[in-house]
Amino acid sequence: MHSPKAEELVERRYDRMKSEVLRRAIKVQSEILQASGGFLRQHGFVEILPVIISPVTDPLRHATGRAEVEHYGHRYQLTRSMIFHKQIALLTHDRIFAFSPNIRLEPVELADTGRHLVEFTQLDLEMRGATREEVMDLGENLLIHILEQVGERCPEEMDFFERDLVVPHKPFERIAYREARDRYAGDFEGVISQQHDEPVWIVDMAVEAREFYDREDPDRPGTLVDMDLLYPEGFGEALSGGEREHTFDRVQQRIESTGLDAEEFELYLAFARRGLPASAGFGIGIDRLTRFVCGSRTIEEVALFPKVPGTLSL
Ligand code: ASP
Ligand code: MG
Repeated sequence: MHSPKAEELVERRYDRMKSEVLRRAIKVQSEILQASGGFLRQHGFVEILPVIISPVTDPLRHATGRAEVEHYGHRYQLTRSMIFHKQIALLTHDRIFAFSPNIRLEPVELADTGRHLVEFTQLDLEMRGATREEVMDLGENLLIHILEQVGERCPEEMDFFERDLVVPHKPFERIAYREARDRYAGDFEGVISQQHDEPVWIVDMAVEAREFYDREDPDRPGTLVDMDLLYPEGFGEALSGGEREHTFDRVQQRIESTGLDAEEFELYLAFARRGLPASAGFGIGIDRLTRFVCGSRTIEEVALFPKVPGTLSL
């Protein structure tokens, strides 16, 4: 009746669906969604709906497969991140956010990291006219608020997961990207995350290490005005963001110097030519945040329908 792969999937997931771990993790996740949406609304953000298909999406810096949909001869891609739509959405409101499903066809080699899914949701936000400092401050306050609220509203879940969540202290430590890379060879993010018990910012990425839309510092060519946040205790990357390139000339230059095909981004470029606002923002993965709050080893354990690279998933 079923293919062996489908049998195996049902075998793997059915009991998991009824497990106490998943039941409690999903409750925690629901509180994370409530806390983050509530916090952002209180801070003047307007929630927008996510975009699922678009002729243009985040090129990403690392290689992921292309996920395309064709409709009446028009080619769309599944959203890898809402970055360009966030910038364009700022034409309507000064502060916007979305819970945005992202599809990144990651290689099977990432199946065992415990933190990569082919489909995940990020809380993606953008602030018109903001500096990196302002979004970093907002990010710290947002994370603190979420952890406080989950701590208050999910005491039984935290007991169940034996999670003694420490609400971090502001300002979070910062390490410059190049310093981090030189000090800890190889997987420096992993090492730094492992060695800290509070979140750590990595700032000032090298231009070749990030996508073209993060703004290059005019006073320090080759360095971007951007950041990643790392969770402590080895949980790894929490969010990425920064100030954005937004003028037509700069965007075009950055696309070209990255070696990308400008034609792929022609619609986005056309909007940039008409004028996009200066902004800064970030995206924070909800599935990873749930994993961190629950203290789980893998994201698969705490996600309802986890799409682990290379594995058939519901
Ligand atoms: N585009 C980034 C990402 O998805 C997030 C951001 O810069 O807002 O990794
Ligand atoms: Mg990132």
